Amino acid sequence: METTQKYYIDVVLPLNLWNNFTYEVNQKEYDFLQKGMRVAVSFGKQRLQTAIVVKKHRQTPLHYGAKPILHIIDNQPIINDYQWELFRFVSSYYLTPPGLVIKAALPGSFMLQSETYLMLNDGAIEKPDLSDDEYLVIEALQLQKMVNIKALQDLFGTKKVFKIVNTLIKKGLVRSMQEVKEKYKPKTETYLQLSEQWQGENINELFESLSKNAEKQRQILLQFFSLQRQGKPVLKKQLLEQSGAGLFSLKTLIGKGILFEIKTNIDRINFEAASEQIKELSVSQKTILDEIKSLFLKNKPVLLHGVTSSGKTEIYIHLIKDIIKQGKQVLYLVPEIALTTQLVQRLTKIFGNNIAVYHSKYSQQERREVWLNVLHKQQTAQIVLAARSGIFLPFQNLGLIIVDEEHETSYKQVQPDPRYQARDLAVLLHKIHQAPVLLGSATPSIESYFNTRRQRYNIVHLQERFGGVQLPQIEIIDLKDAIRRKRTKGNFAENVLEAIEKTLQAKKQVIVFQNRRGYAPVAQCEDCGHVMECPHCDVSLTLHKHQHKLKCHYCGYQTEVPVLCPVCGNPSINYKGIGTEQIQNDLQIFFENAVVDRLDSDTTRGKNSFAHILSKFQNSETDILVGTQMLVKGLDFANVGLVVVMNADQLLYYPDFRADERSFQMLMQVAGRAGRQKEQGKVMIQTFNPDHPVLQLVLKTDYESLYKAQIVQRRELYYPPYSKMINFIIKDKNLQKCQEAAEWLQKSFANSFEKVLGPSDALIPRIKNRFIKEVLIKLPPSKTLPEQKRHILKVLNTFHNIAYFKSVQVVIDVDPY
Ligand code: ADP
Ligand code: ZN
Repeated sequence: METTQKYYIDVVLPLNLWNNFTYEVNQKEYDFLQKGMRVAVSFGKQRLQTAIVVKKHRQTPLHYGAKPILHIIDNQPIINDYQWELFRFVSSYYLTPPGLVIKAALPGSFMLQSETYLMLNDGAIEKPDLSDDEYLVIEALQLQKMVNIKALQDLFGTKKVFKIVNTLIKKGLVRSMQEVKEKYKPKTETYLQLSEQWQGENINELFESLSKNAEKQRQILLQFFSLQRQGKPVLKKQLLEQSGAGLFSLKTLIGKGILFEIKTNIDRINFEAASEQIKELSVSQKTILDEIKSLFLKNKPVLLHGVTSSGKTEIYIHLIKDIIKQGKQVLYLVPEIALTTQLVQRLTKIFGNNIAVYHSKYSQQERREVWLNVLHKQQTAQIVLAARSGIFLPFQNLGLIIVDEEHETSYKQVQPDPRYQARDLAVLLHKIHQAPVLLGSATPSIESYFNTRRQRYNIVHLQERFGGVQLPQIEIIDLKDAIRRKRTKGNFAENVLEAIEKTLQAKKQVIVFQNRRGYAPVAQCEDCGHVMECPHCDVSLTLHKHQHKLKCHYCGYQTEVPVLCPVCGNPSINYKGIGTEQIQNDLQIFFENAVVDRLDSDTTRGKNSFAHILSKFQNSETDILVGTQMLVKGLDFANVGLVVVMNADQLLYYPDFRADERSFQMLMQVAGRAGRQKEQGKVMIQTFNPDHPVLQLVLKTDYESLYKAQIVQRRELYYPPYSKMINFIIKDKNLQKCQEAAEWLQKSFANSFEKVLGPSDALIPRIKNRFIKEVLIKLPPSKTLPEQKRHILKVLNTFHNIAYFKSVQVVIDVDPY
């Protein structure tokens, strides 16, 4: 066979495809390129794609002519070998094509495609030194707000466009819009710094360089230096105020290249020096710390089972301190963005500017920065505090992984694919990097606890609160009985209201928990029984009284509140159930003089509103805080005397095999917000089923018994951890077709798997006009999974080749939650 003179690379594309693709490169490119670098290629009809190099070779592809690449994007790999190993695992375990894994793992702006939309970043317009092409793009974006790359492709040609856009992204002027909904906008501050050119220079020379009549500029500079001397970063706002000069003069100084602006997220101000000493551990905390350290040497994950407020976080801090002294990186995972604000403050005080924060709601620019800082082992990202997507960062020198509140469901990614479980992947990272991993929880997941019983993990227990504060006193309130005795007011038992009153009088704060937002979740006609439902989904509409709307919480549909029943025409619409809005309303009426605030996804839509509500509560400006589960996750408030759970039954009777576990975790977690420092707090749980076994265990804080009961049940019913589950979610607009598709899959799977359940309706059988069916496979966990997964992919491949099922979408959920 004749040898060719040609050079090729195989790349992975961020698409729903299992194959790699071969492109041609010249010798120079071939020598330069490395695995993990990005290249721009065209794919299909004129579509531009960012691709990642996976292999270099000299073999001409057999079935197609290899196209040349357009250009090379990176000068060094942005994905390292540790990550390749992780990505490979995620792809095969969660049955997701490698390109989609990479797309989910990397910050959006790394993987531009023709379909990608672009937007200007704030403040982009002021930036100088653009090439003509770059300027054209900026101009187009000023005019149209959003432009997709395809349109620019027509303007600049396929060859050039990615280069231009990537440069603009690098310069921080433009961002891509894969995730348009950046709901949580971190607060930013603008700081000023002296340009490098003048640093360390003679200050007189600088002043002389100003023209004689530039008095205002002089004032600004003087003030700048005096602020700088205080050893603090110079805030733009402050500088303008204190110098008494105007924005115009400051702009001139910036224009002259003397000062320049830095915008930074308030969560990650990189200037702040550590201002607090690390706390000394108590004797029992110290014992636990030593135990953890010696267990780490055994190369197994360690589970820290510590009651709420026992000082788990303080122990993490001590561990982190050790690791960063060795110059290694730390990944600190938390379940929710909401948690980070408080924690960032706490950690920054100790570790100063060695902390970066990373989660999907951060702007792409910031995520990109953190990614690169981690890649380049920068000190500013030595400790990364992250939500679940943090496991994908390019760590090279990982020394410790912490998974806080390891039982939390938000570690599971729901959308888009891959539907990974970050806690499980953290354990994988531990193996890949040979780095210790610590899982922490007051109420561990049944799976993790099971793993300690099977000696796969080690475990340590910390069963007392710091400072000997007692666990809160928990009281179950029987609503059925209270109603019979006419001892209720609104949705509250009278003794609960009395307890709130007392707590307020003692100048303590109250948290009221109800896991439903809105005013009332059901609107029903008293005469004909008609329930107002979403026209697109099979759910009832929730009343939002303040906005005077009925809303669907699944698709966002909303409509005016009807006066008459649309079916029988009678004015008898009645509202049932309780949401946070109603509770806030009622409490405000019962406690006229109290400040009642609310924390749920309705009140936290705006910029910074989350942090704002929390800080008001923390500063005791708020007396009563009503909220959904958003407020229970590990927040540390000093002055909470009472926690009220409006209705535990919603949790207890949720149709899921994990309902008991979840209820216990949620209730213990909520309870844990009470009396964290100094005095013992109180918790009151309202229910119609006071004898429910889970409530009895909550009363005694008895995790051990909960675990025992659960594990027996799981074994009997063949649920995890005794089985592995793979759920197939089948969606189509046509009910008949949806059912047929589900039956087809069920039958095909039943040929080769023993336990195939369904098809059944999803919990919400229709969302956004699409019907949803489910088929569930249960596998013995011991069986080698890769083989079976290959088989599943084969079945799905056949399915997708059936023309009739073309419109049907199948989502695969491995280890569903
Ligand atoms: P957990 O993470 O287990 O819920 P935290 O670490 O948040 O507990 O500790 C609860 C509270 O007690 C925090 O306010 C924390 O600062 C304080 N605390 C814990 N350990 C110590 C210690 N050794 N010295 C001083 N304060 C401590
Ligand atoms: Zn809807």
